[in-house]
Amino acid sequence: MEQFWSLIQKRICRKCIDGNGKGDCRLPAEQACAIQEFLPQIVQTVKSIDSDSYEEYVRALRSSICARCPGQGENGVCRKRDHLECALDRYFSLVLDIIEDVKARPTSVVA
Ligand code: SF4
Ligand code: SF4
Repeated sequence: MEQFWSLIQKRICRKCIDGNGKGDCRLPAEQACAIQEFLPQIVQTVKSIDSDSYEEYVRALRSSICARCPGQGENGVCRKRDHLECALDRYFSLVLDIIEDVKARPTSVVA
């Protein structure tokens, strides 16, 4: 997982609006970043899909991650998502790119 997290910090945290522009997170301690919190499940979910459809990955995100995230209510509504306050939702396409890049590396060990 360290391989993924290191790339996320390099490619996402540095440009994240909740970061300091240098890769450090500025979210308050009580507000977990969903990318960090659910990283193993995100990687597992993405690895289980092989599709050209971005929507299919988004559907899997909603059913596998959002469904177990405290941010989403029983009615399927997430206030953070609606207000663009979830880094996982904002940068999901970049997260996908990173996971696909690591998968494509011949010597990678994708746990
Ligand atoms: S919110 Fe998540 S993606 Fe954004 S800087 Fe913090 S840890 Fe990185
Ligand atoms: S979009 Fe909402 S429910 Fe989904 S991971 Fe982000 S905060 Fe959680």
